Amino acid sequence: MGRGKDTRKYDEKLKDPYMDKGIYKDPTVCPSCGLVFHQKRWVKDEKLAQELSERGIKFDLKDCPACRKIKDNYPFGILEVNAKYVKTKKEEINNLIRNVVELEQKRNPLEKIMKLNFDEERIYIETTTGHLSKKLGMKIKKAFGGNLKINFSSDQRLVRVSLTD
Ligand SMILES: [Zn+2]
Repeated sequence: MGRGKDTRKYDEKLKDPYMDKGIYKDPTVCPSCGLVFHQKRWVKDEKLAQELSERGIKFDLKDCPACRKIKDNYPFGILEVNAKYVKTKKEEINNLIRNVVELEQKRNPLEKIMKLNFDEERIYIETTTGHLSKKLGMKIKKAFGGNLKINFSSDQRLVRVSLTD
């Protein structure tokens, strides 16, 4: 991974007001998805959450940034795919989406899908990060083709990705 990519990722996080870590105590457990905030980062660690309660360690219960976005219905990325192949490759595309999300969540568990609608020739996806929408768009393009367009809103908080054939 190049340095440029990392800088941009960091930049995106800075512009995301939900990413403010100051409001969380260490440790905090998200009651909605079970992620744990520990040592300044959110981790998916079921053992850690279990260990905390077994050892009687007090932890805060507060929704993680991703679950707050889901509850507020505030996506940071929107991906729309309008293509004929959506109709015939539904299962393959679904599998690809699942694999991409799984992989991205290993790196950052706050990358989540908020909404996923499959129509005849259209897919509409909302994500908690712009990065995930971009990544999904790029992977679907790579596998099935199409024209990819990425637009940032004026304040750069919302990334709109469209893939058309
Ligand atoms: Zn959560």
